[in-house]
This record gives sequence, C-alpha cells and structure tokens, in this order.
Amino acid sequence: MTRFVFITGGVVSSLGKGIAAASLGALLQARGYKVRIRKLDPYLNVDPGTMSPYQHGEVFVTDDGAEADLDLGHYERFTGVHATRGDSFTSGRIYADVIAKERRGDYLGGTVQVIPHITDAIKEAAKADTDGLDFVLVEVGGTVGDIESLPFLEALRQLHNELGPQRSLFMHLTLVPYIPSAGELKTKPTQHSVKELLGLGIQPQILLCRCDRPIPENERRKIALFCNVRPESVIPALDASSIYAVPLQYHAEGLDREVLRHFGLSIYGEPDLSNWQRIVHRLDNPEGEVKIAVVGKYITLLDAYKSLAEALAHGGIQHGVKVKLDWVDSQIFETPNAVERLSGVHGILVPGGFGERGAEGKIEAVRFARERKIPFLGICFGMQMAVIEAARNLVGLDKASSTEFGPSEEPVVGLLTEWLRGNEREKRHAEGDLGGTMRLGAYPAALTEGSLVRQVYGQAQIEERHRHRYEVNIGYRERLEAAGLRFSGLSPDGLLPEIVEYPDHPWFIGVQYHPELKSKPFQPHPLFAGFVGAAVKQARLV
Ligand code: GLN
Repeated sequence: MTRFVFITGGVVSSLGKGIAAASLGALLQARGYKVRIRKLDPYLNVDPGTMSPYQHGEVFVTDDGAEADLDLGHYERFTGVHATRGDSFTSGRIYADVIAKERRGDYLGGTVQVIPHITDAIKEAAKADTDGLDFVLVEVGGTVGDIESLPFLEALRQLHNELGPQRSLFMHLTLVPYIPSAGELKTKPTQHSVKELLGLGIQPQILLCRCDRPIPENERRKIALFCNVRPESVIPALDASSIYAVPLQYHAEGLDREVLRHFGLSIYGEPDLSNWQRIVHRLDNPEGEVKIAVVGKYITLLDAYKSLAEALAHGGIQHGVKVKLDWVDSQIFETPNAVERLSGVHGILVPGGFGERGAEGKIEAVRFARERKIPFLGICFGMQMAVIEAARNLVGLDKASSTEFGPSEEPVVGLLTEWLRGNEREKRHAEGDLGGTMRLGAYPAALTEGSLVRQVYGQAQIEERHRHRYEVNIGYRERLEAAGLRFSGLSPDGLLPEIVEYPDHPWFIGVQYHPELKSKPFQPHPLFAGFVGAAVKQARLV
C-alpha cells in the first residue's frame, strides 16, 4: 500500500521545506521503506529552465532530461533515488497540459475550470507512477496563504479525503520565532498558519516547527492545543550544524515515529542511521582545510550553485577535510593582474554559466590554473572557456570564441542543432523556443584509455547529465591536441567533445556535463573526490 505525506509550509518562505521532505524520506528509507519524493511548484513557468538563477536558484536536471526545482537535488542526495520528469510539476505545466487537452477537444462541450480540471490534473500528477512504493512525499512549494498555491492545496485536500487518513497525512512546516524584547518564543504565527490551512479544509497531523532554540514543553503543548495535534506531533526543528545532520535531529525529536504511528505502522526498532552519523562526524571533525575558488557569475545567490557546493562538500567528506569555498565574481579578473588574487587557493573551479558577461574573466582564471599548475575543474561553460583559452593562448587563434556571444570567425564553441541520443537523432532550430531546447539529461561518453579522467572514474564508459546549447567544435580537435589539450572523453559517435584535460598538468579536467548533479554525500562523485584530493595535495605544497 502506498501512503502519501503532503508537506506544506507556512509563516515565511525559506524554512527548509525541501530539506525537511528529503530528511523524512531518508528516515523512512532507513527504516526499510521504499520512498519517492516529488515537488509541486505554484509558479506559472512550465519549468524553471527559463528562469534566472537569481529568481529560483539552480535548475536541477534529471536523467530523463527534465529541468526541475533544486529541491529535487536534495531529494536525490538524501535518498539516492534518482528523480524523473514526473517528480517536479509547476502550475504552468499543469495548466499547459489541461489547455492542450482543451484545444484537442478532450473536454468537448464542457466548461474547463480550476475545479475539477486543474485539481484533477494535480491529483493525477501526485499519484502517477507510485506503484510498489511504500511512501510518496509530496512537497508543495510556496507558503500557505499564497493565491498561487490554492489549487494545489485544494487538490491535496481532495486526495486526502479520497485516500483516507490510513493512507495520507499532512505535515506543515512553520516558524516559532524568538522575540528578544519579550524574551519569549512566540507560537502565534504557527497558530495563524494552521488556521489558514484549516480554512482551506486541511488539518495537518504533524507540525514541524523551525526554531533557533529548544521549544519548552509548555510551548509545545500550547501549539498542540491550539492547532489540534498531539503534543508529540509538534516536532521542534532546530538549526543544524549541516543539512546532513537534519535527519538525525528529526529522528531524535521523533518525526519518523510520529509518521509511522499515524499510519498504524510499527514504531518499534530503530532506523539504521549509521551512514548519516558517519558523514556528520566527518563533517564536524575535519582534518585540515582546502580552499577552492569558484569563479562564476551568480555568486551573490549561493542557491544558484546548490548542487555544486554540495558536491564539493562531498569531496571534502571523502578526504576528511573542510572545503572552504571562495566565491569570486569572474568579472573582477578583467582588470590587469587581478587574477593574482587566486594565488593562494588550492583549486580553481569554473562552473556552468550563460552569456558573455564575465566570460573573459573566466578565461583568465583558466589560464592562471593552467600556467600555475593549480588543480582545475571546468564544468560545462567552464569547460568551454578552458577550450577557448587553449585555442587563444596555445594554438594562437586570437579570435577563438563561442557563438553564444555572437558570430565568430573562430567558433571553437558553437551551436549544434543535431545530435544522437541512443539511436534517435535530436534536432533543434537556432531560432526555436528557448524553454526545454538544450541538450538535456543523461548522455553517455567514452573515456580515453590512459587518461586522467579514466583513472578518476575507474571505468571506460560513463553517463552524465547535460544542460547546454553549445558544444566544443570537434573540427578544432587536431590543433588543440597538438597544442597539448587532450580530448579524453567523447560521445560514443566521436562527434561531441565531452571531456578535455592536460596530461602535463597535475589535475586539470573540463567536462561538458554537470557531474555535481549526481554527487551524493555517501558516494561523492569521482570528479569531486578527485578534484578535492588534488587540492589536498596542492595544499601540502603551498
Ligand atoms: N552557456 C553554455 C551553453 O549553453 C553553457 C551552459 C552551462 O554551463 N550549463 O552551452
């Protein structure tokens, strides 16, 4: 029997609903249950693919090529279950599907309405492909009280009625603020937020209360009394030393036990949390520190590089070191000698990016890493900049550029409009829509015998997730290789450069895909483990 846990949030945004959902998923999994987590987002974009990272943080990409909310990244990292297209839905996508059906004539004669058509589509999305699962956790984006989330909450209210309490429950995440002048914790915002839910016909069974200090028994009882829940189901959710400590903390406060109790499942026995204890211990007790400069564009909003920061932390877990990140806006390197700022770092990473702004600064950072033999990892745009740097400074093609920045005499990186996915040929038009038209999702690559990357992965064939429109132009391969840049990974048909490296550099790898999307705390991605390992060596030299 599949049970559903609907997760809503109240009072304010950014309380960590995604981490809460992921943590509950991890706890249920540690008790031997099969779980899947999905996200419903109330905005009208069909997916977050066209949104600026400043608006919505990183765009997470699934194996099957969906551009999704970054919370899916947390779900994957915490549970190891790979998300699919069906795990991330926006209002825009629900509406687009319903409107497409209306145009086709599927509702011929009927008036198409939010209730029941949109709500039915939401319920279908929540229930789709859940056979064989013990638990489906459905997180609703936004904050209760927003106009946008009403259809989602209405749909889940209906679904809860249809499934019955034996098969579904509502968990609500709220804030219990401390008011210094009163010297007290305040429960009123939680009461109001639950009232708001009650007004929509939803009685949450579990309250997860974010708070910066322990919630005294008295306050817990008060919340329970006013909000109609058992005192044991008022779970304090205090700030944690790291996101990976959250499952342990929630377990200590009884979250998984309360969920099981609600469903009438056995609450005896303890989940196996040894993996979590191990990584939290490693994070809390590092032996040394390495400093990695991340030279990018969206550095003022760290959510824009969420998976990247996590993957680097995973590399640190692997080597038992703290990875200290120095976020640098690449544009500062566009003034002479500014790049010297990178001299003390143990590794330089140029992440994914879009557009010309800051590109020259990234190229400077690549050059610095190459010439000074500092470990380097270039991801997607970062790899493209590494190739342009080589073309300009090693091959001597001064005009080397990417057609992303406009027409170029030396299009070392250019738009590709056709490629193979398995046996299928995928096509794009240069003037086509921007949404969902990149090379997206998992593609295989073959790694060259004897290369660093082959040694790093320990295998000859890999599959990694992509999200880009432009490709390194294979036509420049010979000249670049003659100058020392080795093409050490290619698409199986040999046409798309996937990985480049310098054999005469201690650790320099550029990859066209996004390895950070697949890194897990328990299974750090080989490239991040390798890169941080190289930084550890570099730190000993410096
Ligand atoms: N802007 C580049 C492209 O579209 C790189 C994209 C990325 O880094 N994700 O190809």
